[in-house]
Amino acid sequence: MIVADLAGKRALVTGASGGLGLHFAQVLAKQGAHVVLGARRIDAVNDAAEAIRAAGGDAKAVALDVTDGASVARALEKFPDVSIVVNNAGIATPAAAIDLDEAEFDRVIDTNLKGVLLVAQASARRMRDRGEGGSIVNIASITGLRVAGQLAAYATSKAAVIQLTKALALEWARYGIRVNALCPGYIETPLNSEFFATEPGRALVKRIPQRRLGRLEELDGPLLLLASDAGSYMTGTTLVADGGHLVSSL
Ligand code: NAD
Repeated sequence: MIVADLAGKRALVTGASGGLGLHFAQVLAKQGAHVVLGARRIDAVNDAAEAIRAAGGDAKAVALDVTDGASVARALEKFPDVSIVVNNAGIATPAAAIDLDEAEFDRVIDTNLKGVLLVAQASARRMRDRGEGGSIVNIASITGLRVAGQLAAYATSKAAVIQLTKALALEWARYGIRVNALCPGYIETPLNSEFFATEPGRALVKRIPQRRLGRLEELDGPLLLLASDAGSYMTGTTLVADGGHLVSSL
């Protein structure tokens, strides 16, 4: 029987002020989780938490900069009972590799890779100490499995997240903690819809076998599979939701 009931579970979503992160928080709340929305500025998630409560869910906001160990520790002190973590915070700063700025490269790796480790580690220590296990879902990307132009730093960080996911899964299985990576393809959000309306954007969509962008709600099933007991025998996996983009014809 498939079980995606998250009633009573505390779930932390990083980078939850908009885009995928906000959607993930709403989906987890609908399944009964007590959701914590993390963002660098707490006022960026206060309203979203309020909206989830108004819709009958349970949600709280927390200030959380994933690149800062002290900030991560403070957030986890407030919510020590977290048993589901969605490592969603991420940045992409497109640039030709030949011109890639050292500081920008550091910023991408700090956020997308070190941030995942810091949040996973702080959460896993508490899960281990409570002895109840948990599930960590790291949001990677299809660019962690195949490259795209102008995205050297981003693609490298996401490939590393996939490998980090496997390493953590191996070491933490003994604590009942599952760690998996979710690799979305191109999902339409308010931030990228302008690009996909341009000629290069439309050309990109034509290369996706399903000939369209993904919708946010098409990540709900994969997210809930990994976050809930429906995926209880899955750890160290990489789950792709991309309309077939990774199998596009060479
Ligand atoms: P987005 O820019 O809307 O969301 C990223 C969030 O991370 C933002 O809310 C941002 O404020 C937050 N963030 C950045 N740095 C942070 C930090 N140091 N601490 C805490 N929060 C921080 O982008 P999105 O499209 O919603 O992407 C969400 C995740 O999904 C990212 O990891 C991204 O790489 C991944 N992803 C997105 C797509 C897509 O098509 N949209 C595809 C594959 C993967």
